[in-house]
Amino acid sequence: MGNNLKASRLQQLEAIERDYVRLKRLIDYAAKNQSVGSYAGSVVFYVDEATRHIVDATGSALDLLGFTLEELRTLRIDQLESLNDSPKTTYVESSQEEDIYHCSYKHRDGYLIPVKVIKRRLVWRGKAIVHYFLEEQTLHQRVWHELNRREDSGFQFQQKLKTLNEISLRLNLIESFDEMCWLGVKLGIEQLGFDRISLWFLDVSRNVMAGSFGVDEQGRIRDERGQSWTFDGTHVMDFLNGNTDPVVRLEEAPVYNEKSEIIGFGWHISVPMLNSGQFIGFMAADNFIHHYPMKNYEPELLRLYGISIGHLTAITRARQQTFDLRIEQERVQMLKAFIRDVGHDFRTPLSVINISSYRIRNVQDDEQKNSLAQTIQEQVRYVNRMIDDMLGIIEMQSELALNLTRLDIGRFLEIMIQPFHVFAAAKRIQLHLESKPGIMVQADTNYLEEALGKIINNAIQYTQPDGEVRVSLRQHPHEVGICIRDNGIGIEKQNLDKVFRPLYRVNAARTNRGSGLGLSIARIIVEAHHGRITAESVFGQGSVFEVILPRQQDAQTA
Ligand code: ADP
Repeated sequence: MGNNLKASRLQQLEAIERDYVRLKRLIDYAAKNQSVGSYAGSVVFYVDEATRHIVDATGSALDLLGFTLEELRTLRIDQLESLNDSPKTTYVESSQEEDIYHCSYKHRDGYLIPVKVIKRRLVWRGKAIVHYFLEEQTLHQRVWHELNRREDSGFQFQQKLKTLNEISLRLNLIESFDEMCWLGVKLGIEQLGFDRISLWFLDVSRNVMAGSFGVDEQGRIRDERGQSWTFDGTHVMDFLNGNTDPVVRLEEAPVYNEKSEIIGFGWHISVPMLNSGQFIGFMAADNFIHHYPMKNYEPELLRLYGISIGHLTAITRARQQTFDLRIEQERVQMLKAFIRDVGHDFRTPLSVINISSYRIRNVQDDEQKNSLAQTIQEQVRYVNRMIDDMLGIIEMQSELALNLTRLDIGRFLEIMIQPFHVFAAAKRIQLHLESKPGIMVQADTNYLEEALGKIINNAIQYTQPDGEVRVSLRQHPHEVGICIRDNGIGIEKQNLDKVFRPLYRVNAARTNRGSGLGLSIARIIVEAHHGRITAESVFGQGSVFEVILPRQQDAQTA
């Protein structure tokens, strides 16, 4: 090993030791909470341009080189400078000339301190004075700057992490996916301090990124659920290929709106949202509103937020899926019950028709023939009614087109109840109407007749012979109630609110031939009239159904 090499190693070691000693001094200063002003202040030498002698220096400059001002005044600047190989760079800034270069300055003890020099020429009291601003490039100085910067942003980061944790807990309580996204954006800008945030989710079926919520150019939250764009050739491909680091575009990167149009320039961070390591979307933030510079912890903060939202997305989606699945199962269950019941209900009349038509061919007696024909007719009518109800309810799933007229409800009941007297009499049931004229409602006569007809029909149907059905009017402050009371079989308490569900039939009433659609149809019709139906019942004693409709100004006062 050559002596030169040994010597340069030794120099390096000495330099490190010096840096170490000075660094220790700095830390001691900081620990004692003392000002480190001499290190934080500017290092400036003032040099006479003509003689190149140093005429003045700041305290920091004296501190850095270890000279007194008197000693410095005996020196020329070039006696301190030891130029590096690197070429000088000259910038011209606001017509004032500046030289910027790197070199080393000699300490009083002889060792060299690497510095960056910014040299400016000024005229002061008629004399040309050159300012030499020095920026220390030593390790200790860089460490010191970095420590300061980190301590500051480290504290801010710590605060933001706390906030992030609180936000995540809050978002976790939200059931709906859309609401979670909306609040995620809102809290991201309000509490984490990003100017704008947007959430984009991968839609595999359409091969696009689909929008959810974002922030507009004025800083307001914007619904971006209708937006989508193809991601070929964008940074999304990196995420799809497994990159999980934030993609950071610094100042002067284009900033986009929800339609991917450039609206300005600034910084932009994009982080992937993952579910079990799978890319499901990304979160983007930019500084479009306030244009503040990016804080060094912001990419990491957004990355962590992206992880939280990705995780919560997975949970909310799973919850939603379970919910959808439950609804779907219920629908399948209903459909099964429907097919079973309808099958059963159609089979009975069809077999009656089948047997009657067979017998009709073989009997000779006219009276018997007539009776069989009547049976067939009845069964056909029943099947028809079933089909009508089924079609009716399908039709009513969409909006009802009501043909509204002003109607005296008492008079209307008197007319519409007529056919039911025949049905009631056939079952030896007393059907009473207690009504009075003059109470007005706004209704579609056909639909209202259908709704009330179904309830009156039920009352007669679910009441034993010798029972009684009573239809009456009840006045409410702004409404009128049409009560249908029977003393029939009644409905058990636990089944009462189920009777309005499509296809629902109380078990005990199974032998009766209904479609299970009557009350659901009635309810749809009444609600379309801005009314409601209530039901009360005592099992074994009877039921009261009340159709409540908004009242119009009464006839007498109108
Ligand atoms: P259905 O065509 O089977 O009568 P509805 O929807 O009209 O269908 O009624 C649903 C169920 O509610 C009926 O199957 C019956 O069990 C019960 N129900 C309806 N009205 C009455 C009533 N007045 N008394 C007793 N049970 C009733």
